[in-house]
Amino acid sequence: MSRYWSAVVHGLTPYVPGEQPKMDNLVKLNTNEHPYGPSPKALEAIRAATSDALRLYPDPNADALKAALAKRYGLQPDQLFVGNGSDEVLAHAFMALLRHDRPLWFPDITYSFYPVYCGLYGIDHRMIALADDYSIRAEDYLPQGDDRPGAIIFPNPNAPTGRLMAIADVERIVAANADAVVLIDEAYVDFGGDSAIGLIDRHPNLLVVHTFSKSRSLAGLRVGFAAGHASLIEALERVKNSFNSYPLDRLAIAGAVASVEDETHFQESCRKVVATRDALVEQLTALGFEVLPSAANFIFARHPLRDGAELAAELRKRAIIVRHFKAPRIDQFLRITVGTDEQCAVLVDALEAILGR
Ligand code: PMP
Repeated sequence: MSRYWSAVVHGLTPYVPGEQPKMDNLVKLNTNEHPYGPSPKALEAIRAATSDALRLYPDPNADALKAALAKRYGLQPDQLFVGNGSDEVLAHAFMALLRHDRPLWFPDITYSFYPVYCGLYGIDHRMIALADDYSIRAEDYLPQGDDRPGAIIFPNPNAPTGRLMAIADVERIVAANADAVVLIDEAYVDFGGDSAIGLIDRHPNLLVVHTFSKSRSLAGLRVGFAAGHASLIEALERVKNSFNSYPLDRLAIAGAVASVEDETHFQESCRKVVATRDALVEQLTALGFEVLPSAANFIFARHPLRDGAELAAELRKRAIIVRHFKAPRIDQFLRITVGTDEQCAVLVDALEAILGR
């Protein structure tokens, strides 16, 4: 606290990211990074962009990246917005599109940055309970008479549960709320879900947000994008251009373009993670864990006989870091990022030892 702070700062509750420990030899399964590296072509493009041209500002519109994304997803460039990680894209969307007189609706168990942005931008919100099986119920997001949202946001697959909503249910929500923006945060969709990007031509109220941090293994580059009707994108551009003209630097634009163009590497590296995830789910189930069905690059699991916090602490003693949330209804769960086959084997061995198997 300081008397020099703006008044609003006193009331903020900032987001707490998963830790990035400085120790070597950790099995780091806590922040849903991709276990295999980015496209070698992306690395090469970043190296090539490391030149004297860095004395010049980057393209404020990142047109090359929008063109590459437009081609990959069958869109027009004016249906795309890019930002410094999807967190920045989300932040601009909260300001530009989700702030209305009526409350913003989102699940009570979800990406914990959403309430933080609500706090930052003063957005009234309603948190809707997940079903008993930890799924998001589409029915809960349909307007009932005058009880309708100002806007809706949820991740699909949801985080930290990993559960996927069928694309038909996503479209039902979008269609039923034609007067409100529905933002689908598809940070993890490439690991097993159908993207709602294919729906945006039919629904001018749908915004879909993606990140390069997970399926494209470029968390360190900080690139995310939104796809939607050109008028939604225009609102995002207005906010972005009132905040930072150059959110993507030259290296990020070059690396992201090359990543989008390397479809083979993208497909193959996602396929490997999905195969490892499915094997890990089987192994943990055999150890007695209850594992929620996951369409993401992480799993959410609890053991009926062992406390979640205690298991996380035991793993940490063995230099294995997973994520544990001290929150109602999920404090018995561990969120475990799918690592390499070797990392997952180390994890399973450690859990066997901890459980005395
Ligand atoms: N959405 C969800 C659901 C996430 O889990 C994350 C990662 N913490 C993000 C968005 C943000 O990812 P990034 O800013 O790295 O693009």
